[in-house]
Amino acid sequence: MDRTKYLRNIPKVDEVLENKEVKPLLSRYPRWLVVDAIQNILETYRLKILSSDTSASAAENTPLDLSTALIEERIASYLKPHLRKVINATGVILHTNLGRSPLSRDALSNLREVASSYSNLEFDTLRGERGNRHDHLIPLLTKLTGAEYGLIVNNNAAAVFLALHTLASGREVVISRGELIEIGGSFRIPDVMKASGAKLVEVGTTNKTYLEDYQRVMSEHTALILKVHTSNYRILGFTAEVTLSELVALGKPQNIPLMNDLGSGSFFDLSRYGLTKEPTVRDAIQSGADVVTFSGDKLLGGPQAGIILGRKDLLTAMEKNPLMRALRVDKLTLSALESTLIACLDENRARDAIPTLRMLSLQAEEIEKMAFSLADLIRKDLSSFLQIEVKRSSSQVGGGALPLEDLPTWVVAITPLTMSVNQLEQKMRESDPPVIARISNDQILIDPRTLDEGEVNLVLDGLRNICHG
Ligand SMILES: *Cc1c(COP(=O)(O)O)cnc(C)c1O
Repeated sequence: MDRTKYLRNIPKVDEVLENKEVKPLLSRYPRWLVVDAIQNILETYRLKILSSDTSASAAENTPLDLSTALIEERIASYLKPHLRKVINATGVILHTNLGRSPLSRDALSNLREVASSYSNLEFDTLRGERGNRHDHLIPLLTKLTGAEYGLIVNNNAAAVFLALHTLASGREVVISRGELIEIGGSFRIPDVMKASGAKLVEVGTTNKTYLEDYQRVMSEHTALILKVHTSNYRILGFTAEVTLSELVALGKPQNIPLMNDLGSGSFFDLSRYGLTKEPTVRDAIQSGADVVTFSGDKLLGGPQAGIILGRKDLLTAMEKNPLMRALRVDKLTLSALESTLIACLDENRARDAIPTLRMLSLQAEEIEKMAFSLADLIRKDLSSFLQIEVKRSSSQVGGGALPLEDLPTWVVAITPLTMSVNQLEQKMRESDPPVIARISNDQILIDPRTLDEGEVNLVLDGLRNICHG
């Protein structure tokens, strides 16, 4: 069948604009938006004709729709933010692609208040003079961790970079081969070190590094010993690692500081919730680390940020580094982070208030209840479309934290009866708000661990809309 006939019949934008139903749109929206929406519709149609084998049936089955409703729908899509809420039904708590940690209510209300008016960001209201944006958080950080001083930058990658650039540019940094990690999103420790101007001196092997390995390479050129928490993998079996305290003791007589990149950096001993015991930030400071860095939006459960703690003389040097200006955070981050830190002063309060900690500490029995009640709701309405099961599974911490951790959970497992699993998964992603779930053994799994209360109903609404068309 000849495509040109259909292609020739596609009207010009100006002709569409002359249509007496379309014309009034010009008084409601800027002309270029209307034109753009029409062009978009015409182009989509043209591509459909070009890509179909049987252009006739394509053209006849889906005739060109230039209704004002469709044009307005297109315009509305331009006026809506593209970055938006999604529902995380994957059970991966620190899902980096889904924005890591949701903020606590207190963090949000503080952020809203600070951001919607002027603030004392860099103003000392008592003395009536210029202040320092970090001063707001330093008392909290030192109380929570025992550190002498603190700094906040854009993220942990920036923290590592600023520390290396300030303390070791043009000099040597000693690190174990077992800790030369890639975090994902192409953050590789060796690359960051190179970019900072520090020279990498690798010691030991992938699975075993001894104190003597460090001793052998240390000289007057050594600026720093770096210990990186291998947050996203574990070396198991035949292994040897030098402890933080041993490294501190090694550097001290030669006046070589030790920096510890903790990655996730928890303030609390999470073994209380059945997770593997990991050193807390306070443990790292107590072991004598001179600089400790970690993320604000991993186990801490706050906004994206990099937190640097440790010796005041070293951190003051970082603060004076001209790069600090490029890496510093804004009032939005500081206000949300401060509220998160305040909640951390009381572990029980933190567990209830900070979503990341709440989801981490949820026990399987609590999730089992949530899963059965969601399953009942889905069955009640949609049993002719979806077959529902509740079963045991495991959630993940994610974000490169606690990689071996299997958090026991219960999931609602859905087998669609009127479409394929992949079709259902796609329709869920296309829902408003999108529902992101995982597929396993030809079923869609919904893990209630990462849903908050109101979201259960949104998942249900989404499924209803999909099934009822
Ligand atoms: C996650 C992580 C980083 C990077 O932190 P961002 O806050 O994502 O920049 C650096 N080091 C370690 C060990 C990490 O786990």
